[in-house]
Amino acid sequence: MLPTSTPSTSSTPQSPPAPFPTNFIEFHARFPNDEACRRYLLKLRWPTGFVCPACGTKQEPYDLGRDRLRCRVPECRAETTATAGTLFSSTRGPLLTWFLVMWEISSRKTGVSAVELQAKLGFSRYATVWIWLNKLRQVMVRPDRDRLAGEVEVGIVKVSGHGENGLRAFVAAQREGRRIGRIRLDTCEGDASADMIRFITETIRPGSTIIGQVASATADALRAIGYVVLMSEPVTSSATPRRVRLVGGHISKWLMGTHQGGVQKQHLGWYLDEYVFRFNRRSARSPGQLFQTLVKLAVQAAPRKAGPVSRSEEE
Ligand SMILES: [Zn+2]
Repeated sequence: MLPTSTPSTSSTPQSPPAPFPTNFIEFHARFPNDEACRRYLLKLRWPTGFVCPACGTKQEPYDLGRDRLRCRVPECRAETTATAGTLFSSTRGPLLTWFLVMWEISSRKTGVSAVELQAKLGFSRYATVWIWLNKLRQVMVRPDRDRLAGEVEVGIVKVSGHGENGLRAFVAAQREGRRIGRIRLDTCEGDASADMIRFITETIRPGSTIIGQVASATADALRAIGYVVLMSEPVTSSATPRRVRLVGGHISKWLMGTHQGGVQKQHLGWYLDEYVFRFNRRSARSPGQLFQTLVKLAVQAAPRKAGPVSRSEEE
């Protein structure tokens, strides 16, 4: 269950997989400047050698300097860069700063807040680091990820705040013996029972067994499309399955601890994505593995806007 072993790192005799740093000293030695970061991106982007994005020819390009690469095919001669079409192409910040931010995110078990990062890396503007962090959160969950399967506990938990203003999330947690396997999360607003069906069909494969406290109409609808639905283990105080409660409790603590409880409703989805990214990779052997996965996701992602900055968030 280590997603870093995706096919794009598969080694060939010509192209060994890009090694990742295992601690900060190695990180520092490995990435002394922007050029070293750029080389790393090229390696992750084209693990078996450069392929021209315009004509598809696999051939080493001309290196024109200043991050410009030109296709050698005479009829093509298209130019590209290491960052074109990636998360990094839409910002002017030095690549090394992006790498440091990604290292901070991956090397700390509980992540890092925008306030901490601003202080540690000396960003002059809070808004910049807030946007960078949220751009990264948006690539942490791939749209084409696998759905969970087997026995999966589902439920709705409160993750932040109280009463009407509390933020809620859908949780799906795979059973793995007594342990929690992989999880999926989503924000929960409005009509929870209609959204529960959408959440389950998006995150869990039909044929799986759903354990949860769902309305009987929801259970019937799910059975009709191929799920086995068991109501949750009885006699728990909240009737929410154990793994769902545990995950909900961890998320609340994380939002209160690392993020000081300042997450706003419209951004909760991004934080949940970061939580899933960390949780499902919690057995990674080294922080460098998480770092490499994050860089890869950023390389594969089209640039996106982080939306308006929330000044109050995390402050
Ligand atoms: Zn070409």
